[in-house]
Amino acid sequence: MKKRRGNIFRTVLSLIILVIIAGGAALYYVPAIQDVVIARVIDHSLTVRHDELINDDALRVAICGSGSPLADPDRRPACNLVFAAGKIFVVDAGAGSFARVARWRAPLERMEAVFLTHFHSDHIGDLPEARLQSWVSQRPAPLQVYGGPGIERVVSGFTEAYALDDFYRITHHGADFLKPENGPLQPREIANPDGTPLTGAQSKVVLEENGLTVTAFAVDHTPVIPAYGYRFDYRGRSVVFSGDTRTSEGLTLHAKGADVLLHEAMDKNIVGLMGAAAMRAQIPVAQKIMHDIPDYHASPRDAAETAKEAGVAQLVLTHLIPALPGWLGNRIFLRGTDVGGVETRIAYDGMLIELPAGSKAVTYSSLGR
Ligand SMILES: [Zn+2]
Ligand SMILES: [Zn+2]
Repeated sequence: MKKRRGNIFRTVLSLIILVIIAGGAALYYVPAIQDVVIARVIDHSLTVRHDELINDDALRVAICGSGSPLADPDRRPACNLVFAAGKIFVVDAGAGSFARVARWRAPLERMEAVFLTHFHSDHIGDLPEARLQSWVSQRPAPLQVYGGPGIERVVSGFTEAYALDDFYRITHHGADFLKPENGPLQPREIANPDGTPLTGAQSKVVLEENGLTVTAFAVDHTPVIPAYGYRFDYRGRSVVFSGDTRTSEGLTLHAKGADVLLHEAMDKNIVGLMGAAAMRAQIPVAQKIMHDIPDYHASPRDAAETAKEAGVAQLVLTHLIPALPGWLGNRIFLRGTDVGGVETRIAYDGMLIELPAGSKAVTYSSLGR
């Protein structure tokens, strides 16, 4: 009896292995079967959409880039999407970050404006992709691009660089589909009445619509001027983006009482070790960069102290320099952030932060990368 059961088991196992091998071979060799499988995958990918992100029941932030100019396969340079009042707003668009955004299948036709913190390359490189993706998605108006004095130059440069691309695409798809009047980037300068950049503790409300208020304020990224942070207030909830900054009075002042502070952070100890290693390895370019960058960025501890002083309980460290891998990297990065009353997290690409209206809750989840 036992022997018979063993034989049946072996026969069934052999059959299963045979079917798996036959299926694998068919998939490998037969184009018609490959097409069926790929069609299923495409069907599935089209059903994944994140339209709920623009629901007006919460203020939401998705991080499309938590890295810096230092190349890292897991972190794109600075990029954040804010979902509020049924619209999508972009805070910085670092190079390659919109490859992340495209995978989320958010309703990009609702993109209304981009807010640039400053004009370093790691914050502006994907502005053309933000424009193109939302334009193709049938954005119904030109994309507004807010930034300090210099914004017109940045926008006109990108506009000229992409003029031929626009011509090809409109010619190919037709002006009915890719409406030329909705294509342009529209610069919106944020400055004092005399045209000078905001500095010190200066700020300006730059957008007010449907219960959403966006306030720009000066931060200290000297010699980079203008350098701004942004605060979004919507339905009693608020998030603040530090932009690139060392500890600055403007940030502390305008982050007051916010629910979440997204703050740049540089581990200066690790950057020092990298500089010393570059010296030993006789790589003067890397040594020079590691020497120069710490003076205009904040450490994780600086960020935590700013959050504490501003009364912000939720701190998310982003624009990580350097981006350290894994849990050990996170442990190292969080050193010194235990300042009391501030819960500190490390951002990652794909992080979704939700702040439901009429609540004190802040939830964190992943949209995937
Ligand atoms: Zn930067
Ligand atoms: Zn910068």
